[in-house]
Amino acid sequence: MSNPFHERPTRIEIDLDAFAHNHAAIRSRVGVPVMGIVKANGYGHGLVQMAQALERQGVEQIGVAFVEEGIALRKAGIRRPILVLGGIFGPQVSQYLDHDLEITVSSLDKLRQVEAAAEARGKRAVVHLKIDTGMERIGVHSYSSAAFIQAAAASTWCFIKGVYSHLACADDPASPMTLQQLERFHDACAQFERIGAPMPIRHLANSGGVLHFPETWLDMVRPGIILYGVLPDPASRPTIELKPVLSLKSQVVYFKVIPEGATVSYGATWRADHQTRIVTVPIGYGDGWPRALSSTGRVLIRGEQYPIVGRVCMDQFMVDIGAGSAWNEDEVVLIGRQGNELLTAEQVAARIGTIPYELLVGLNERIPRHYAGGRT
Ligand SMILES: *Cc1c(COP(=O)(O)O)cnc(C)c1O
Repeated sequence: MSNPFHERPTRIEIDLDAFAHNHAAIRSRVGVPVMGIVKANGYGHGLVQMAQALERQGVEQIGVAFVEEGIALRKAGIRRPILVLGGIFGPQVSQYLDHDLEITVSSLDKLRQVEAAAEARGKRAVVHLKIDTGMERIGVHSYSSAAFIQAAAASTWCFIKGVYSHLACADDPASPMTLQQLERFHDACAQFERIGAPMPIRHLANSGGVLHFPETWLDMVRPGIILYGVLPDPASRPTIELKPVLSLKSQVVYFKVIPEGATVSYGATWRADHQTRIVTVPIGYGDGWPRALSSTGRVLIRGEQYPIVGRVCMDQFMVDIGAGSAWNEDEVVLIGRQGNELLTAEQVAARIGTIPYELLVGLNERIPRHYAGGRT
């Protein structure tokens, strides 16, 4: 391993058996092909490693956000079809073609840019048309998509493999928005029938759609966060049995006793109201462990939950273990299981008012990833 941090006692452990379990559970529930989403470093789990795992498990399609991520996967030897979900920049189209990456075409202008680049290169582009049904991000509004679909269907240099849209509120099973979006999507897709063009693969469901709205599964689903065993939102229902894939662990690097009245860390924002025991853990916001967890987060040591006290520093933070015991090199679990105690990514994110997505993708390359399992 060329990673200079590889031996660092702070580490992320990735359970590839749990990942395979989640993938299989999703597949058996939906019964349609799966596009496994591995953008943003595989939601913090490792871009290449998670794509390789999906490929071994027979995933039909892989999804990333940016062309650079797709190129990285091709360079690592991934052979499965890869769709880049983000919007394209005209000058980058030749890179998609060179690396056999499928293109999201999200406007008539961009369709023309792809056609021009494909013709110049003498190679047909494989595209998925993006319809906007209410997200107001990228994509042609469903209510004005007829001409767009017609132009794409008439294109010689674009093969329309897919047509898709993105759900804004599917994390919440009670939101009426999802079925409205589905209806708008069906209206747009009807244009293919109207003009006698073959229906491409229709895909709409993100993790929320997979969990809560079977109507949105259509011809393929695009789960991201649930592949990693994490629910998208506190309102989400675990309709599929998921296993967390990622654990974040460190070790106690220092132990001290502080007197009543002593303050801990920068800004002296936390004060001991009695003599207590403080341990230091060598990971901080420089690793993507959020500073917002200052005097707010909790960790597991010797099977007990203890509070983070004072501000989280760039490379370290402190924990009040009260009358508890801890020794240098004791394991500290920040996300994951220790004994009978469990700290989930959902719980950590909720403490600081964010979503598990942001917490996980924020864990950066300074933390080495260790992979186990997945050899079945
Ligand atoms: C990120 C993304 C997904 C996956 O979302 P999850 O909520 O993680 O399942 C699906 N489709 C598109 C277009 C995305 O950008």
